[in-house]
Amino acid sequence: MTECLFCKMVLGVIKPNVVYENDYVLAFKDINPQAPVHILIIPKTHVATLNELDNIELSGQLLLAVNQVAQQENLSEAGYRTVINCNKNGGQEVYHLHLHLLGGRHALATRIT
Ligand code: 5GP
Ligand code: ZN
Repeated sequence: MTECLFCKMVLGVIKPNVVYENDYVLAFKDINPQAPVHILIIPKTHVATLNELDNIELSGQLLLAVNQVAQQENLSEAGYRTVINCNKNGGQEVYHLHLHLLGGRHALATRIT
């Protein structure tokens, strides 16, 4: 069994609050939200950091999922911020690539995770 927290979510061993999924990605609410809406979007395959992302189709699917989830959560028009933390200096804590989708208030009021 994988030790990766987010792989466990993809496998259904741990059940996050899922807001969207397709064949490529899973999107769920962050457990410690830094904005009124704080959703994490992850690839369903294990990619440790942005440094290891080498699949063009998956890269596109991740960005399209941000677009899709933003629409679903009614963030598109007002706007939102997307953050990817990479490795130690980027503040990455979970080593399975994830895109933070932060919305619901002005980004200047949102602490970047
Ligand atoms: P990072 O600092 O790696 O970019 O962000 C990791 C994010 O994962 C943090 O915002 C943290 O709150 C979130 N997180 C950590 N553990 C869990 C968990 O068990 N469930 C959920 N839903 N989010 C988590
Ligand atoms: Zn993983």
